[in-house]
Amino acid sequence: MSEITLREYALRHGKSLSNMYNKANAGQLNARKAGSIWLIDENEPDVDCRSTGVDKICPRCGNHFVGSGRAVYCPDCKKELNRQRAAEYRKRQK
Ligand SMILES: [Zn+2]
Repeated sequence: MSEITLREYALRHGKSLSNMYNKANAGQLNARKAGSIWLIDENEPDVDCRSTGVDKICPRCGNHFVGSGRAVYCPDCKKELNRQRAAEYRKRQK
């Protein structure tokens, strides 16, 4: 195993450096500070718990789906709910 700087790690993973520093400071990355630079194991997996691929259960239909951090309903229910909302909106307009 060898350590690389956080800058190198960010480059390899296509991440923004400031984002990596935030994570390191928050203890979300297994990085250590050596003087003024952050070092990290080059094989450290990129744990991104928020931006992509969270397994969720839709409260409306109970189906499992993979959504972003803010998604509540599965794509099917979201479509259906949006359709209903639009229909109700049009009804109120009359
Ligand atoms: Zn659903």
